[in-house]
Amino acid sequence: HASKASKESMQYRDEPNDKEQCNNCVQFIPGKTPEAQGGCKVVEGSINPQGWCVAYTKK
Ligand code: SF4
Repeated sequence: HASKASKESMQYRDEPNDKEQCNNCVQFIPGKTPEAQGGCKVVEGSINPQGWCVAYTKK
């Protein structure tokens, strides 16, 4: 979706930041299973549940 930010601009990575990770962020859109790649409401592309970016917001 064109209105989402790029992974690069949000400094997205496939690793958590201590206890902060996508699957406990309000913006995460889960995949079919807890381990599956999901999505994000604000960052484009496939999102690792254990990833992280600067827009992290605790759920
Ligand atoms: Fe992950 Fe960042 Fe999206 Fe939160 S905002 S789900 S930390 S990519």
